[in-house]
Amino acid sequence: MNTETSSHPAEEALTHFALGLNNIELREHVDACSECHRYVQAIQEAKQKIKDLPDVHIPDDVRKKILAMPHKSRLETVFHLSLFFQQISKSPFLIVFAIVLLAVFLYIFLVFVL
Ligand SMILES: [Zn+2]
Repeated sequence: MNTETSSHPAEEALTHFALGLNNIELREHVDACSECHRYVQAIQEAKQKIKDLPDVHIPDDVRKKILAMPHKSRLETVFHLSLFFQQISKSPFLIVFAIVLLAVFLYIFLVFVL
């Protein structure tokens, strides 16, 4: 599109037209202008080639990893919390320590805040 650039529609408009935008003015120009017609045709051919590409099989293990990604951090949090409570439940000292700590916080809250 080097010649008569000002009389041709913008490439972006022609690209949208080639990809399916219905516009009567563009249609009339493309039908009458061989240069723009070739441009639109080239984009439509490229679109068709992309459409015709074969589907690629994603291995199951890769697919599972991809599907797991958005939830990964949440799952890790749950896993670490469950490990934390598992460790606490194994140790009577930690249970007593947690109860004493809770009692101290409760005492401070009741005496100084209320
Ligand atoms: Zn043109």
